[in-house]
Amino acid sequence: MKLAKNLDRLGTESAFSILAEAKKIEAQGKEMIYLGLGQPDFKSPQHVVDAAKKALDDGHHGYVLSNGILECRQAVTRKIKKLYNKDINPERVVIMPGGKPTMFFAILMFGEAGSEIIHPTPGFPIYESMINYTGAKAVSYDILKEKNLKFDPEKILSLITDKTRLLIIINPNNPTGSFVEKASVDFLAEGLKKYPHVAILSDEIYSRQIYDNKEMPTFFNYPDLQDRLIVLDGWSKAYSMTGWRMGWSVWPENLIPHVNRLVVNSVSCVNAAAQFAGIAALDGSDDFIHKMMKEFDARRKIIYEGLNNLSGIECSMPGGAFYIFPKVIGTGMNGSEFTKKCMHDAGVAIVPGNAFGSTSKDYVRISFAASQENIQKALEKIKKMLG
Ligand code: PMP
Repeated sequence: MKLAKNLDRLGTESAFSILAEAKKIEAQGKEMIYLGLGQPDFKSPQHVVDAAKKALDDGHHGYVLSNGILECRQAVTRKIKKLYNKDINPERVVIMPGGKPTMFFAILMFGEAGSEIIHPTPGFPIYESMINYTGAKAVSYDILKEKNLKFDPEKILSLITDKTRLLIIINPNNPTGSFVEKASVDFLAEGLKKYPHVAILSDEIYSRQIYDNKEMPTFFNYPDLQDRLIVLDGWSKAYSMTGWRMGWSVWPENLIPHVNRLVVNSVSCVNAAAQFAGIAALDGSDDFIHKMMKEFDARRKIIYEGLNNLSGIECSMPGGAFYIFPKVIGTGMNGSEFTKKCMHDAGVAIVPGNAFGSTSKDYVRISFAASQENIQKALEKIKKMLG
């Protein structure tokens, strides 16, 4: 067989292979605490599950519109209005099977040899993987160099060239849990006005997971950028619906025919019953999110304090999402060595920093989507491991 060359450039998401390895070790009888995967450890809200059951009972079993059921797109625009007070035409919304396809399609649209795409490192690994796959040049901004792992808007603007086609922003960020506040995003947005040839993909999948009552600095705030803005969001994290594969994105009008064609050429449409569940989630009460965030906040404080008390480990306080990104090189191990030892000696599954970019090899990502009891237990096990 002769395979296409670009397959060699496609990366992966290591959290899934780490999960498989941890499960193997657990099957051999060793206790394992899972702090690797990026998914909330809560069941989806009951009214969401009920809406999906009803949709199945009502006979929603067939294909639906490739850009999503109109009622679902309207529910998205109602939510955007409620959260950000912005009016979005439902024709600019596309319902996707998760957040990931939006990045996949957007990068396919802009990436080719000779073009440049700017992205954060460390960052969600599929971005760099997909940019490389298309043959575009991946130009990264390193957030490890910045205070509290936040991006520096001036640095980002300085990377733009004539070849830049797309700028990727992830806020709050995975894997660092860092959150960039509105003032910095305002500065970036103002600077971007000077570069009308650059499209923006704002990954806002953690928009409902921000601590300390801070405002989500959504890119919907900037009317001047709307004709080149793609916003990625979805149900996975906010409503603990990772397995439903439900995401949405908002696109500039002129990109809608292109994204629709990419959807038709790949997935056709999203599962109808899941879209009815999505409507129930968006239109229902936000109590679920508030309760979940209260719990995440308590865990965030426990893990931040616990890790900083271990010698050789330092980390900053996450401002969003449910990840903490400690630097572990002070223990004498890099991120990969630390991760291996954690898995085999302590029975704690985490992800090495280099899974998110080459500059973060001295770090690890720990997800605190686990009970407080398990987080405490994991901290004790790591302490013991470090002697
Ligand atoms: N963006 C970021 C920053 C993420 O961390 C993730 C999932 N971990 C996604 C997008 C994809 O979300 P989904 O599971 O809905 O595809």
